[in-house]
Amino acid sequence: MCKPYRFFDTSEEVIRELSLYELVNEGNRDLAEEISNRRPDMTDFLYPNERSERMARIKGSNTRPEIALRKVLHSLGLRYRLNGLGLPGKPDLVFPRYKAVVFVHGCFWHRHSNCNIATTPKSNTEFWVEKFEKNVARDNRVTSSLKSAGWKVFIVWECEVASAKKANATGKRIADLIRAE
Ligand SMILES: [Zn+2]
Repeated sequence: MCKPYRFFDTSEEVIRELSLYELVNEGNRDLAEEISNRRPDMTDFLYPNERSERMARIKGSNTRPEIALRKVLHSLGLRYRLNGLGLPGKPDLVFPRYKAVVFVHGCFWHRHSNCNIATTPKSNTEFWVEKFEKNVARDNRVTSSLKSAGWKVFIVWECEVASAKKANATGKRIADLIRAE
């Protein structure tokens, strides 16, 4: 199972997300709230031994979990659209032909159950719990509105695509589900 090291984003937003903890700890909750609402799931986690390698690749992009998944799905012949196509919750991947969508959720922000990444910070716990509850409630609202509009909704957790091997296995599983009637 995944052993969390620390959370941060792999893109430029990393600094901002990392500083959320500091912002909250310094009592600057309004700004922390604003930033995290803007990008609720732009976090990533890394193992200590992966960190420097991944950090070195950040500037080259294509390190985000959904990109690993995208590559696998594409190699399995599935064609998708990005940017949500105006659908509720702006799904990460949309498969119009199968009327299916995939969200790649960060385990921390979206509260992957029984996942070691979904820790709760020990300080300012109330703030974080409230934030997490809002995220989960929003995810539930989005899922039910998509489903009631006839879309199949699949969630992929970041820990399920954290390595090439995991991304492959997860991609195959999701591809089968998307194609299943
Ligand atoms: Zn997880």
